[in-house]
Order: sequence, then structure tokens, then C-alpha cells
Amino acid sequence: MHEFSIASNIVRTLISVAEEYDQQVVAATVAVGPMSMIVPDLLTSAYQALTEDTPLAGSELHIQQVPITAVCNECGAETEAYEPFVECSECGSLNLKIKSGYELQLISAELRESGEIMQKA
Ligand SMILES: [Zn+2]
Repeated sequence: MHEFSIASNIVRTLISVAEEYDQQVVAATVAVGPMSMIVPDLLTSAYQALTEDTPLAGSELHIQQVPITAVCNECGAETEAYEPFVECSECGSLNLKIKSGYELQLISAELRESGEIMQKA
């Protein structure tokens, strides 16, 4: 299960962040692009299962879905999409160059007492 190993990486990172700041993680946000092939519901349930008996128990994982951006090789138009199958919004071509959408990145962690701390994964 793809989501499970990704969730365990996120959990590992958050535990080390919590230790570094000596605070409790309340919530974390990950940016997920459609090309990462992540199912958000599976990622959050894997996260909950993995954090059960850890210092992260009870914390929440928020998923921020980011779009694919692609440039058409035929007409040069830029298209955004939330599905991994993109066609050009201008000419309908499937000949596109994907610029982004592979994101799978921990973008922030909310720690108790200190508010929000930006934390790159
Ligand atoms: Zn086009």
C-alpha cells in the first residue's frame, strides 16, 4: 500500500520535528499533486493508524490538493487539472508536458503553544 509507506515517512518526520522543538504536534499539512497517485482518504487513515501509539496520537493530517500544470506541445497553452489525465484546455491535444503535479510534500506542522511553524519535509 503506497499510502502506508508515505504516511510512515510523514510520521517519522513529524516525530523528529516534535522532538526538535520539544512540543506536541497538533496537526500537519501535506501538499498532494494528482500525479503522485495518492488517495487522500487512504493517506489520512494510514496516518491515524500509524500515530495511534506515538506522541502524534490525536493529531490531524490535512491534505491540500494542488493541481497539475501542463503546457501543450501543440499550441503552447497552459492547463491546470486535478485529474491525472490532462488534455489541453485550448485545443484538446493530449500532447502535453507536465510541469508540476507530482507533489507529495509536508508543508507545515502545527505545534502546541507556538502556533504555526513552517517546516519543509
Ligand atoms: Zn493545445
